[in-house]
Amino acid sequence: MLKLFTSHHVASRFKNRSSHKLARRGFFSTLTDSKPTDTVSAKPCIDDCQTVVALPLLSKPLIPGFYMPLYVKDPKVLAALQESKRGQAAYAGAFLLKDDKNASSSSSFETVNTLDKLKGKELLNKIHQVGTLAQILSIQGEQVILIGRKRLQITEMLSEDPLTVKTHHIKDKPYDKDDEVIIKATYFEVISMLRDVLETKSLWRDQVQTYTQDIGGSNYRKLAETILQKRRRKFTGFGAGIFEAIDVFYQKLTGFGAGVFDANDLNYKKLADFGAGISGANKHKIQEVLEELDVHKRLVLVKKQVEVDKIQVFHASIFPEESGSANYVEKTQPSDKFRERVYSKLILEEIPKHVVKVMEEKFEKLDRGEKDSRSTESIYNYLDWLTALPWGECSDDSFDVLRAEKILDEDHYGLRDVKERILEFIAVGTLTSNPQGKIICLSGPPGVGKTSIARSVARALNRKFFRLAVGGLSDSAEIKGERGIYIGAAPGKMVQCLKEVGTENPLVLLDEIDKLGKSSRDDPEGALLELLDPQQNTHFLDYFLDVTIDLSKVLFVCTANDTDKILGPLLDRMEVIELAGYTTDEKMHIARDYLLKNVKRKCGLKPEQVDVSDTALLSLIENYCREAGVRNIQKHIEKIFRKIALKLVRQQASALAAMTDLKSSETAAKGSIELTNEYLRLADVLKVFEYAVGGGTTREKSKEIALKLGRQQASTKAAKTDLKSYNEYLRLMELEYALAGGPMSDKSRAVPEFTIDASNLADYVGKPVFRGEKIYEQTPVGVVMGLAWTSMGGSTLYIETTFVEEGEGKGGLHITGHLGKVMKESAEIAHTVARRIMFDKDPGNLFFANSKLHLHVPEGATPKDGPSAGCTMITSLLSLAMKKPVRKDLAMTGEVTLTGRILPIGGLKEKTMAARRSQVKVIIFPEANRRDFEGLEESVKEGLDVHFVDEYEQIFELAFGHDH
Ligand code: ADP
Repeated sequence: MLKLFTSHHVASRFKNRSSHKLARRGFFSTLTDSKPTDTVSAKPCIDDCQTVVALPLLSKPLIPGFYMPLYVKDPKVLAALQESKRGQAAYAGAFLLKDDKNASSSSSFETVNTLDKLKGKELLNKIHQVGTLAQILSIQGEQVILIGRKRLQITEMLSEDPLTVKTHHIKDKPYDKDDEVIIKATYFEVISMLRDVLETKSLWRDQVQTYTQDIGGSNYRKLAETILQKRRRKFTGFGAGIFEAIDVFYQKLTGFGAGVFDANDLNYKKLADFGAGISGANKHKIQEVLEELDVHKRLVLVKKQVEVDKIQVFHASIFPEESGSANYVEKTQPSDKFRERVYSKLILEEIPKHVVKVMEEKFEKLDRGEKDSRSTESIYNYLDWLTALPWGECSDDSFDVLRAEKILDEDHYGLRDVKERILEFIAVGTLTSNPQGKIICLSGPPGVGKTSIARSVARALNRKFFRLAVGGLSDSAEIKGERGIYIGAAPGKMVQCLKEVGTENPLVLLDEIDKLGKSSRDDPEGALLELLDPQQNTHFLDYFLDVTIDLSKVLFVCTANDTDKILGPLLDRMEVIELAGYTTDEKMHIARDYLLKNVKRKCGLKPEQVDVSDTALLSLIENYCREAGVRNIQKHIEKIFRKIALKLVRQQASALAAMTDLKSSETAAKGSIELTNEYLRLADVLKVFEYAVGGGTTREKSKEIALKLGRQQASTKAAKTDLKSYNEYLRLMELEYALAGGPMSDKSRAVPEFTIDASNLADYVGKPVFRGEKIYEQTPVGVVMGLAWTSMGGSTLYIETTFVEEGEGKGGLHITGHLGKVMKESAEIAHTVARRIMFDKDPGNLFFANSKLHLHVPEGATPKDGPSAGCTMITSLLSLAMKKPVRKDLAMTGEVTLTGRILPIGGLKEKTMAARRSQVKVIIFPEANRRDFEGLEESVKEGLDVHFVDEYEQIFELAFGHDH
């Protein structure tokens, strides 16, 4: 049975105090007026709800605008409520139970038991005739959540079991315009007192804080909006009211002192109800407020109660021991923190039932207090996770293609195809209101913008972003959590992600999915499949939480360097979008328009302080960072800017030191001027004195003074020089001001400007890693340039063959260069094919038969294991055999069969770009790749002489059919 909330109802099995507490913790809505708003239609009209099932309340009447959870044990009553909820009039009547004057001081349990038996007339006589029309918000098991709407008065009983009554809705007495002044004054008093009480440390403040934080505060608006959205239909016209009331009260209570108060927009009766509902008044007092129809009198009643609260709070603050009784300081349960956390979500029924059940069990366990403190601690830890998950919280998807396009363009240069594919995906989302479906996999070498594209997609869709690195992950527990609740146990990454982002629909980037680790114990592949498979991820089981959670709202995007390495079943669920890498031209744009700006900002430099010339950028791209991506360029730019930042800070520091020096010389200078003047004055006096009196000693004195005077004059001179420096100091002061961001005067416009160009680039980033030119100016015999493609992008590599020794029957091939299996095999095939071609062309040439050869692939950094070097190897062998170098500026790629047919290759764009970087002019590609090449951007193809071939014979012609 569900009992996340303690109750007020007859069937409550809980202590009074906690039910009381929760009632007050309920939040206020302004639903006391029945007028439907313009925006939401009210069907049926609340005024039509005259016949209701009467629910007796044990501890407190229900104030309009407040929530109240109840436990209804009587199956008949429960069925009647369910019936009303299903129908259009989801209302009941809530009436406070009168005190039983005859009963002795019976415990609430006894009362509850007696009450259970009360039916029909008997019950009618025991309840107050004035009560509240309550809307039934939810029914979960025996738990019913009500929200008070209007005041009611019972007029007659219609049926006995369950007690159903006819009522009329009572209205407040209209008041005279003349009385409004008094009402307003009382109203202000109440507001002011409410504020006073809130300001003191008290239960009250806690309550209002709960109201303003959990329900109000940062979340109050969100909650109100959520209620509005989700319950609009159910509330039939009142949703807007809730929002207004919370907003208005929140502002009034917090903004009163700030003079933003305007009484007209907040009606008096609502404040009275709010005050009554939130105060610690006893049930009789609150019933009095409920029954009072004179607005002024009602306000006065509330005022009195608030006053009492104020005194009590004050008393409590002075005599905490004495007053720390149950009167107004309620004891808390260990689980309260968690209950409060999920309070609104439970009301909105956003937590799945099976999770609510587990929560309930754990709350009870926590409150019972296990003997073993370790076990309590672990339950605490468990609940801390379970209640912190964003149940029902989603950011609103934005499927605005134009906005998405703007965002993608804002964040990324180029990538035309990639952006187009993503926009298509968003467009489908627009039409289906659901972006799910295939999982996007962004594939390409490092630093080409896979992560940042995913980030932009999240921004475009208005979703939170979370990066989950799965590269190297070898244990499924990282995703699925650890089994068992014990101290230190934690859920898996996916649950951690949800907690961190706070929404159920983030965009989760599974980074480097092609680099999943393997372990003998278990493999993470299964866990990832569970995540990505729409059939399975609606009930994803985290071992630590041990409840299933729905991940179907999460949008997964994966990244990979090489899709061939993604496991089949995973790849099957993905839609791969390739990012090939950038041309030099693209890199220039990215570096200038994106990276420079971003890095400058990150390093705290102002745009005008540093200028990086285009030649410097080009040199950076061609001589330092030749990879397909731009991350390395970014790193180099960061390096430059860090160095500049250090220089700037050093300059500032020495300017500061210079200023301090000048300041002291200024003081010294001023001091010496004053002293000189004093001496001069004294000297004058003495001269007069000497003249007047005459005599040896005085003359001596006068000499002494004259000497001092001379010295002083000298130091005055020095002081004047110092003053010159002082002017310099003033200039520096201005400089410092300008450095700190102030405007510069013309005089101090000499702010250090740093210009980085090709000439001083090396001072910042060291010597170039690559040389601008190729290794060979003129390719020697036996050397041919091939094109390779790895997960890092494309690269050029030379294949060299040399002659080792000659002797009849000694023909053979020795291979070096850390080649992989496929490439070694390729070399052997090449040897055979070359030998056959040589034989065809010149049967008398026994070079291959009698020569021991050595084939080497020197590019150390490139992993070498692919089949596409076949034609390059053959050409290299033939070049040696014929002692003829191939034409210069030539590069080729393509696998060759034993019969000399050329097979297609992968990574054509990367290879083309790599060839451009090495200033290759002529490229040979397999015929089967012609269309791939034609699909490339013009900037990539421009200026290249590309040949497509089917047979090796054609390569032979292109490579050797030339005259030097
Ligand atoms: P990846 O995930 O592919 O390894 P990132 O997304 O981390 O690469 O990109 C590295 C850096 O390069 C990021 O700062 C990113 O913003 C930048 N970048 C990559 N491509 C572009 C582009 N087309 N336009 C602007 N910046 C880019």
